Amino acid sequence: MKLLIMGRPGAGKGTQAAKIKEYYNIPHISTGDMFRQAIKKQTKLGLTAQEYMNKGLFVPDELTIGIVKERLSEPDCKEGFLLDGFPRNLVQAKELDKILEEAGIKLDGVLDINVDGQILIDRMVGRRVCKSCGASFHILYNKPKVEGVCDNCGGALIQRADDTLETAQNRLKVYDDNTAPLLEYYREKDLLLSVNGNQEVSKVFEDIKEVLSK
Ligand code: AMP
Repeated sequence: MKLLIMGRPGAGKGTQAAKIKEYYNIPHISTGDMFRQAIKKQTKLGLTAQEYMNKGLFVPDELTIGIVKERLSEPDCKEGFLLDGFPRNLVQAKELDKILEEAGIKLDGVLDINVDGQILIDRMVGRRVCKSCGASFHILYNKPKVEGVCDNCGGALIQRADDTLETAQNRLKVYDDNTAPLLEYYREKDLLLSVNGNQEVSKVFEDIKEVLSK
């Protein structure tokens, strides 16, 4: 299963990606997670990425394309992968086509988690993530059993630096201007699989399994 997952910020990509990874037993490759790891380790890449991420802007293409190319060449991607957060613009999409073609890999589909309007801002601003394992919760819609504590590993829940109201609004605009046109790009290639993301987490996942089974 070789997949991309797309959706506006706050659409629940990360939550569904974790389920897809487990169910289909494929690596989940998230460029956002890779950048956050690099920031945590304070590497050169991390320091550069942080400047852009905290403003809700894209990290420059050459850096992003480089880390994806490297990651996709690792052996665990041979049987399948779920690429999350990449590509985010047409330049990246065309580069991905090249990377896949050179590696003789054909995509099976591009999942689009479709969610509308204000709900996205609420989801982002209320989101809390585990500092240790990255699991995602929400202060209203997906509460942890104990406030501020991760259900999975007991780690501390924090708000992502780019989940503040201003940055969230900016990320949505940047997505709509740059990434949304990719849906048409993949529809034309007959790869687009749209799922209604305005539903409960478990129902969205049921719908994902259904479209993937076809
Ligand atoms: P995400 O976790 O996918 O929401 O990504 C968080 C942030 O990481 C984004 O707002 C961007 O600043 C950066 N980022 C992640 N993926 C990319 C990408 N493909 N191109 C540029 N920037 C990215």
